[in-house]
This record gives sequence, structure tokens and C-alpha cells, in this order.
Amino acid sequence: MVQSGVPHGAREGGWLPDWVYTGEKFETGLAFFADALGRITRFSREPADLAAARRLSGQAALPGLVNTHSHAFHRVLRGRAEARGRPETGPRGAWREAHDRALGRLSGEDVFDVARMTFMEMLLAGITCVGEFHYVHHQPDGTPWPEPNFLSCEILRAAHDVGIRIALLHVAQVRADFLAPSGSAPVRSRCAGPEVYLRELEALRVVIEKDFPADEAWLGAAPYSLATVPLDAFKAIATYARAQRLRLHTHVATSAAEAAACTAEYGRAPVALLAEQGVLDKRFTAVDANYLSDDEVKLLGTARAAVCVCPGSARNLGLPPAPVEKIIAAGAGVAFGSDTQAQIDLLADARSLEYDLRLQRDQRPALAPDAATALFHAATVTGARSLGATSGALEVGRPADFFTVNLLDPSVAGADAGTLLANVVYGLDRRAIRDVWVGARQRLSGGRHVSHGSIVGRFVDAQKRIWAE
Ligand SMILES: [Zn+2]
Repeated sequence: MVQSGVPHGAREGGWLPDWVYTGEKFETGLAFFADALGRITRFSREPADLAAARRLSGQAALPGLVNTHSHAFHRVLRGRAEARGRPETGPRGAWREAHDRALGRLSGEDVFDVARMTFMEMLLAGITCVGEFHYVHHQPDGTPWPEPNFLSCEILRAAHDVGIRIALLHVAQVRADFLAPSGSAPVRSRCAGPEVYLRELEALRVVIEKDFPADEAWLGAAPYSLATVPLDAFKAIATYARAQRLRLHTHVATSAAEAAACTAEYGRAPVALLAEQGVLDKRFTAVDANYLSDDEVKLLGTARAAVCVCPGSARNLGLPPAPVEKIIAAGAGVAFGSDTQAQIDLLADARSLEYDLRLQRDQRPALAPDAATALFHAATVTGARSLGATSGALEVGRPADFFTVNLLDPSVAGADAGTLLANVVYGLDRRAIRDVWVGARQRLSGGRHVSHGSIVGRFVDAQKRIWAE
């Protein structure tokens, strides 16, 4: 049942799990309460409060995870791009072919149905907030919809319907690659230039502010990459984002060829170029960052920018891990994204990153002396900061976004308060995630979404249409 944690007409409602993660540790005998807006109002150990709170017996509560980088429609590609492609197309040629085929077929209805499936799967993984890097804008033949922002609105509608918090990172793509002419971007995502893009962004901002509470859905600017958005257009978008205090996300340093191509066109590698142009700041997030020079890492740190890494997706695509240790040491934040949705499991992403580092350094843990806490912080607090979300921690004034773990699930049974977080980060089975609450509203109960059957059914139908011969 989807229900509010705050009883109808009441000023507040509360929860009493066996343990609650308050940012540094799990605490017991502690209830927390939220108001009718879904924001946490207080924590209490008073007997009357413990008695009044809804008992979550045998469960631990943890702040909802933040998925900082998602392309929802990539969910249709799972398992369908794993065969080896033609040698001349390179290591990711088969994936690219499947991507382009799906992109050519998705109807508006498919975009909605697929996004609902993807967002529901995120809730099942304890994710309560997503940064959707959305770049499908036009009809399959490239014709704009009568309402240019139709598909962005469908994404927002899907997030609202499923009940996940969303930063809509509306994407600009102008050209196909470095040095390519403007207008050469793929037809479904092509925009004529920064003026058109910023008009769309402005119109979307009005829609979002009218239709959603400010912290349920909000807008971010997202030039797809320096390869596909020429520098002048990139700067125009960055200037607008800064003036409007919007987050600015972009793919950067994804491939080895990118730095060379960027240097050939502009005389600088991508991050160095963006720093020189004054684009980097605390609202900037570099997505992927698989190939960064030490100087570029320092530039991101000096700007207090964030880096979103997508370890599961990168591994699936055969891309190397980002230099995360250096990025953190330089002072930039690290967040996680599910990106191509090869798997939706941020905790698996976190442990995969840590294990890559252990292999490289022959040290365990590798990221930090308490890597479990650092990884969980990245998957919550830093992700929220990168997206401009109000969530990310169970604290007074923040929304009651949390998931509960069944403490008797075989994957965590026997953990104590001191070891539960490490157990969750390194060994939690997704099956152990029981209830998920977003803004004090219950979105998952007993590991199931209220619309589970219809969401899965419609996705299965969409897959049949998309992949029919
Ligand atoms: Zn991406």
C-alpha cells in the first residue's frame, strides 16, 4: 500500500526502526518524525514518542540513495547489446548499434513506460532521488513534437507516478562530434543552438514550478559533452545555469580519444578547457571522468566541483575506473550513477569501485580507512549535493527519504550496529530492501511497489514493440 507516514489530518507522523542511520552511526531506541510536507521535524527517545511512532520491527532505516546520473531509456538495452559487434565498429560498436536502434523506435508512450520501469527498479534498490540526464527530445524521425518539451514532461510524469524525487537534467546536443558542423547531432536529440535550448529550458522551468513542489522535481542544465556542444554554446548554457543557480552536468573525459580530439579543436583537454573558460564551480558535475590528467583532477578539486562515476556501467562498457582517490584527495566530491542501467544497484557500484582500487593498490580497504562510510556518503550526501536535492541524510529539515533493510535477511543477518553499514555496502542483497519512503510517503512496502504488476507489464509490451523484427 502506498500511504503517507503522516496520518490524514495529523501534524506529524513518525517511525521507530530497530536501528536508524544518523550519518555517523546506527542508533537504537530512536524515533524520528516528519510533518505533513514530508520533512523530518525531530528525533526523540521519549517513551511517549517511541510509543506513538510506527514500529518498524526487525528493520534498520537508512537515508535513500541518490542516483546522480541516469539515462532511463537505456533500460531497454539490458542484455541486448552483449554480443560482440563487427570488428570495425570497435569495442562498443554493438552497444551503439542497439542504442541507435532503440532510439529510432521509442514512442512517447514507450518513453513514459520505460522510465516508470527504470524508476521503480531504482526504488527497489533503495534509490529515492534520481538525476535524469534526458536527451530524447523529438519524434523518431527528428520532427519536434507540437509541444517541444513533451518527452521531458513524460519523464517528469513517470517520476511523479512512481514516486521518486527527480532532477531533470535537460540535455543539449548540437553536433555529432568535435569539429563536426552544428546540426549534425542525432535527429532525436538535436537542438539548433543555445538560444533554442535555453528557451526550452525556461519553458520547462515554468512547467515544473507550476506542477511540482520545489524539492520533488527541479531542473538542471546538461550540455551532453564538449564533443557535441561547441564551446560558445556550452558557455552560453553555463552562463544561464549560473545566473539561474541551476546545476550544470556534462559527460567529460569518457574516452581516451576525447582529450586528444578536444585538444585538436581547442588546444586544451576538456576539464582544463572548462576551467580556463570559468565554467567549473561547486554547481558543476563532471560525469564519467574515466580519463583525467592529474592537473585536471586538481582543477576540479579547486572548483569544489563534483564528479559522478558510474562504475557498473563503465565496467559493462569496458571503460576504466575514474581516478577516484585522487579526485577525493583534491577536494572534489564523488557521487554514483547507474548511467546505462546495465544494473541498477548503487551499492554494487560503490563496492565495485572499492574493489577496483584494492586490486590496483593491494590494500584493503583502499579508498579510505573507513571506506564503507566514505562510499555510503558518496551514494547519499554527495549525490544530493551534486543534484541540488534536499535529501541525502536523515536530518531535521530534510525530507523523510529512507529505505529499510530486513535485519533477518540472510545477506545481513547477524550484523550489529557497528558492522551493519559495512555489511550493507559490501554484502547487501537487494532482496533485503523492504520499505521505501520518499517525503514520508511509502513507495515500496515489503519490497513491492503498489503498481508493480502494471509497470512491469507495460514495460514488457514496450520491449516487444521496440525489438520486433
Ligand atoms: Zn551518461
